[in-house]
Amino acid sequence: MPLAIKARRILDGSGKAPIEQGVVLIEGDRIKAVGASTQVHIPPGAEVIDCGAHTVLPGLVDAHSHASIIPGLGDQIGQLRQPPAPAMIRAVQNLRTDLRSGVTTMRVVGEEHFLDVDLRDAIAAGHLPGPRLLVATRPITARNGHGAALTFSDGEDEIRRHIRENVARGADLIKLFMTGGVSSKSTASRWYAYSRHEVDVTVEEAHRNNKPVAVHAHGGPGVRICIEAGVDTIEHGKLCDLDDLVEMRRRNIWLVTNNAVGGHPDGIEKGDGHVASIMAKLRESREKSRENFASVLQSGVKWAVGTDSMHGLMWWEIAKVVEWGADPHDAILAGTRRAAEAIGMSDQVGSLEAGKLADVISVDGDPLTDVTCLQRVGLVLQAGRRVDRLSPM
Ligand SMILES: [Zn+2]
Repeated sequence: MPLAIKARRILDGSGKAPIEQGVVLIEGDRIKAVGASTQVHIPPGAEVIDCGAHTVLPGLVDAHSHASIIPGLGDQIGQLRQPPAPAMIRAVQNLRTDLRSGVTTMRVVGEEHFLDVDLRDAIAAGHLPGPRLLVATRPITARNGHGAALTFSDGEDEIRRHIRENVARGADLIKLFMTGGVSSKSTASRWYAYSRHEVDVTVEEAHRNNKPVAVHAHGGPGVRICIEAGVDTIEHGKLCDLDDLVEMRRRNIWLVTNNAVGGHPDGIEKGDGHVASIMAKLRESREKSRENFASVLQSGVKWAVGTDSMHGLMWWEIAKVVEWGADPHDAILAGTRRAAEAIGMSDQVGSLEAGKLADVISVDGDPLTDVTCLQRVGLVLQAGRRVDRLSPM
């Protein structure tokens, strides 16, 4: 039976002006038509969901998260080192939270035990509620690097072997940890783990296997090495300077930005507030974030947003960059169509267009005038199936 979603306003993810009094017509798991109610014919017998004064949008796309991590519990790397069972229990709960908040697609950029492959496949089979996942499996991390949990890759041979194992086990992309990170005790944010040769090897091996390379990098010379090696996305980039960002634009490399894990009180501060070395890096990152985002806008680099494990807080990520000067419509695109482009799924998701998967959400208000209404999600459809009636855990 066809399904028609009616609403006061539709933001279709194209970037064009909203469609007033709109209809999204769905058949099976796909969108059949989108337009004003005067133009889209609702076939007799169709089920109609009237979202009233809500705004209808494409399902949100979280371009950078992890399934099993909860930053507020502290010691994120330690969480990755745990055995599969407790990690999986957290992941099931987190992904349910993400889905109920309107995230219908998510890229998972690092888990141990290949549990992200099992999660992706269980969600795709309809056995588990959660966003549709793209997964990086085990990150490529140096023994002395940020993100070093259970799997280490030093030198060309280990890098190639681990990429090949990840691909064989079902990885959709390859994640490399290049610079230090905020949430580890001993790595500085501008220090970097890998030589140019090791990054070249990563890119060559991944691209030969048709897998994009996503790189954890904050700033300093390590960022430039990755840009010149031709990686696909730079994750975080909180200490990138304007020159780095302009060079990324020139080479068509995406920036995936996230602010909640460092800026929201339930993030790193809650979990690791007692660790002086982490808090020193967090303070620097916070101080630079606003200025860094101004450079992002100035550079013209393509940017998308992700939550980095702040489950349910895509609305906060989008609202934060609006507070820092992003146009609200542009910020919403960074969490829908552009996020889908950044992760290589824009032919399937990220906008409401005939032929795409029917991932549709509604929010209570007009996000172009008050972007924080993205936290008041009503309807959530994933591939044409209604998933907003899930109880909270
Ligand atoms: Zn991350």
